[in-house]
Formats: sequence, structure tokens, C-alpha cells
Amino acid sequence: MYHDWDVVPRPDRPDRPDRTAEVAVVGYGPVGATLSVLLAQQGRSVVAIERFPTPYRLPRAVHFDDEAGRIFQACGIGAALRRMTDPVDTYEWRNGAGTTLLRLGRPGHSPLGWPMSSMFHQPDLEEALDRRARSLPLLEVRRGVEVVALGDDGGGGVTLSTTAGDVRAACAVGCDGADSTVARLLAVPVRDLGFHYDWLVVDVVVDSDRRFEPPNLQVCDPRRPTTLVSGGPGRRRWEFMLLPHETAAELDGEGRVWQLLAPWDVHPGNARIERHAVYTFRARYAEQWRAGRVLLAGDAAHLMPPFAGQGMCAGIRDAANLAWKLDLVLTDRAPERLLDSYQQEQLPAARAAVEASVELGRVICVLDAAEAEARDEVLSASVGPAPAEAPPPPRIEDGVVDAGSRGAGELFVQASVNGVPFDDVHGAGWRLVTLDEPALHTGTRSWFESIGGKVVRLTAPDGSCASWFARHTVAYALQRPDFHVFGTAADGEEATALLRRLRLHLGAPRPM
Ligand SMILES: Cc1cc2nc3c(=O)[nH]c(=O)nc-3n(C[C@H](O)[C@H](O)[C@H](O)COP(=O)(O)OP(=O)(O)OC[C@H]3O[C@@H](n4cnc5c(N)ncnc54)[C@H](O)[C@@H]3O)c2cc1C
Repeated sequence: MYHDWDVVPRPDRPDRPDRTAEVAVVGYGPVGATLSVLLAQQGRSVVAIERFPTPYRLPRAVHFDDEAGRIFQACGIGAALRRMTDPVDTYEWRNGAGTTLLRLGRPGHSPLGWPMSSMFHQPDLEEALDRRARSLPLLEVRRGVEVVALGDDGGGGVTLSTTAGDVRAACAVGCDGADSTVARLLAVPVRDLGFHYDWLVVDVVVDSDRRFEPPNLQVCDPRRPTTLVSGGPGRRRWEFMLLPHETAAELDGEGRVWQLLAPWDVHPGNARIERHAVYTFRARYAEQWRAGRVLLAGDAAHLMPPFAGQGMCAGIRDAANLAWKLDLVLTDRAPERLLDSYQQEQLPAARAAVEASVELGRVICVLDAAEAEARDEVLSASVGPAPAEAPPPPRIEDGVVDAGSRGAGELFVQASVNGVPFDDVHGAGWRLVTLDEPALHTGTRSWFESIGGKVVRLTAPDGSCASWFARHTVAYALQRPDFHVFGTAADGEEATALLRRLRLHLGAPRPM
């Protein structure tokens, strides 16, 4: 038997007039832009501060996974993104003689409603995010402005000193990339995994009818480790490891780039070099992601070599995790300590991604012929005809999850509702999804609605959704705004109890 709860009203909290915005986002790369959009969509006022006056055009991410796709969909750019991406099924690793060493892949669409792997052109993604950002009245983007110092604003918030004057906000998030000023100013401890390799990265626009098979390939040739992958429709990405006797300046010139592309039958007659740059691939993560009202996200919090295509994806997951927590805290619907669960939940997944990327890096960054031969012998012996699935990011074990309940911490499926993706129909907040006629305690339901929750009954679940419920033998799944399952329940009474436990997790203001 459950008691009625008092509904926690959403407080009407006018912004403090002396503050520029509720949240200052430092850095407007993909992570800062995603976080800014998610916050502004929830009604939070945001100022995003970016030192570059115009969008950054150098090559970086070309791949995102199904979870990142779903988060971009939550930013309102899903339809645009589906049009500008190339789904790929396999990721082949071969030695210099063409023998397969690894065949990775997760073919087809995932239960999240996105291809397992999508290849894209990062400037197109950033443009789509920016277009969305500019449609949101609560979001202001200040370009050509650099954050140089941070301080307490004397009222529990943060003052950011910038090259264009002070910005005051209730909290600040450093999404300012690998050389994060915010991380440096906070002096957070950093764990460096000691992985440093220089690679030349080249983006090429190819003739439209040109096909590359396999579409994504790593050539683990100790004479020149090389990456050849899709760069989104009409584009290809090559990455060439620098050899010990070479300097970046020697390799990073247009004539030399064409020479390196020539073995792949790529030349000025059938392709155009869009850009090239030498990057040092590194692996490290901050061991502290929050200092009071200042937090870190994306490359500012973790950096990994690109071999698993996860650097940006990990940052996009940070943005999704942080956005709903900041929203609840800034509107007094949850206490500030909820922000502690951000690092608690995200750091294990980020660390796993950094470590997996380094493991793959240690396969390809081998320049010694004998070492490469030994590697090839071991790896080629265990390659099967079907691609091996790369492990998904670990589920959330500790944090805002109902640890005892089935499916808790996993990503929840995205059902299709009459052929339309669930999130496009019902949005991406707290969703209590059920196959039954929902039977919930009225007070419980009202509290749930006060945190933006919605109860959704699926009358005709599609295959992946029905099998998710059947596999866990439950009738209710409580999905967080970042699509992780908080917990599950078998019936209405259990679902009411589940919501009560959620309220406790979010720091219920009084004992129930
Ligand atoms: C060659 C290469 C290939 C990659 N491939 C993939 C891939 O396939 N898939 C994938 O998921 N990831 C990939 N990554 C990683 C991915 O590019 C990054 O993880 C991602 O761009 C990080 O996004 P971010 O928003 O955290 O940081 P950034 O993109 O670095 O953005 C940070 C922003 O902050 C701004 N800034 C910095 N300091 C300040 C300041 N003091 N004040 C104001 N603004 C500031 C910068 O100008 C910049 O615009 C790759 C990276 C490289 C280098």
C-alpha cells in the first residue's frame, strides 16, 4: 500500500538578473553544442562561448554509434542526420599482405533505432547542431570569445573571465576539448595511459561512383600503418602513421599527401584533397569531473585515439547524462549532490572506451616487422567469417539506477510507433513505458509529471521492444532522459514503488 505524495511543484525561478545565463558552456564543438541544445530545449538559459570566430574545419570524427545517433535525434536533428550519413556494417583489419587480422562490426540497425555505425562529415553535423541551436531562444552562442579564468560569483555561481568581458552563470561546463582551459584552471588530476603516436589525417572528396571494399579498413603494415574509412557520403578518410625518421612537416604537404594516396589509385584526376593535418593520438582521462558548480565533458574529460571511433561518442553521452541532471538541479527539483552521479556514471564508460581504443591502437601502431609477424599469427588464427561484435559501452551499475531491478542501467530500446521512431512521437524525457493499461498511484504520477515524466502505453510494440519486455519478464520500463533504464516493474503496484525509489534517488525532499 503506498501513500500519496505531495507533488513537488516546478518552481518559478526567475534568473538572477546579474547572471548572463543559468549555464555557461565553454567550447562549442560537438559536445558543447549538443549539451547547449539539450539544456535549452529543457528550458534552461545557456550561453555557449567559443574561441573560434567561425566553425572549425579540420578533420576529426567520421564515425558515430547508435547511442550517439539517438542523442542527436533528441537534439532535433535526427532526420537531417539520417540523410547525411553512410551506415557501415564491418570494420576490417588486415596486415600488409592482405590477411585479415580482425573483423569487427555490428551489422544492421540496433534496437536503439539507429545503425550500429554511421559514417559522417563532422562539419555537416556541427552545422546541423548549430542550426538547431539558433532556433532556440534560450541559447546564445558567443563566437570569437575565449574563456581565460574562472571564479566564484559570490552567490553560489560562477564568473568566467573572457576576452570579451565577464560572464556569470549558475554553473559552467568545460567542453573545451583536449587542451581544456577549464580542466587546467581546475587543476584536476589526470591519468595518462602513455599512448602518443603522430598520424597524418587526410580527408578526400572522391568521384561519386567510386566504391571502396571493405568500406572501413585498417592496414596493419609495419612499413606504414594506414587507415582507410568512409568520411560520409562522397568522402573518404585516410590516416597515415608517421614513421620514426619522419617529421610532421615532411609528411603534411600536398605533394607528399598525393604520393601517399597513389597506391590506392587516388589522384588529382579522380579526387580532391579537402584537408590534411598531423595529430598526436593520445589516451588520458581526468580523474575528477566536477569542482562545485564547474564540470567537464567530452575531450576535456577524456581523450582517446580514434581507432574505435568513440571519442566524440563518449562526449555526446556525457552531454546527454549531464543535461537532465543540470535541469533538475537548476530548477530545485533535485539537490546539487545529484551532480555527483555524473562522474560516477560516465567515468567508467569513458575509461572503458579509452582503454579499448588503446588496445586497438596497440594492434595497428606496430613498426617492428618481427613484432608485426607475431601479432598477425595470433590474430589471424582467431578470425571468423562473421564480424566480432565490439562490446557496447558498459551499462550503468552505480548512480541513478534501481540496481536490483531487471534491465537497470541498460540502454532502452527505441520502439517504432506506427512506423515512427518512439522518441519522435513521445520526446526524450523520463518515460515510463508499459504494455499494460497503466495503473499508478495518482500522487506518484503527478510527481513523475513534475519532473517532466510521461507514462506511455504501447499497444502494439514492435519486435525489438516486445522481446526486450519478454526477455526481462516485466511490463513497465522506466527510461531516463538519456535512454538508460532506471528500473523495471512487473505491474502497476511495483511501478508505483519504482517511481518512489526514483524520487529517493533524485534526493526526495522528505521521507516518504
Ligand atoms: C583524426 C581524428 C579522428 C577522430 N575520429 C573519431 C570518430 O570517428 N568518432 C568519434 O566519436 N570521435 C572521433 N574523434 C574524436 C573527436 O573528434 C573528438 O572526441 C570530439 O571532437 C571532441 O568534441 P569536443 O566538443 O569535446 O571537443 P572539440 O571538438 O575539441 O571542441 C572544443 C571546442 O572548445 C573551444 N575552446 C577551447 N578552449 C576554449 C576556451 N578557453 N574558450 C572558449 N572556447 C574554447 C575550441 O575552439 C573547440 O571548438 C577523432 C579525433 C581525431 C583527431
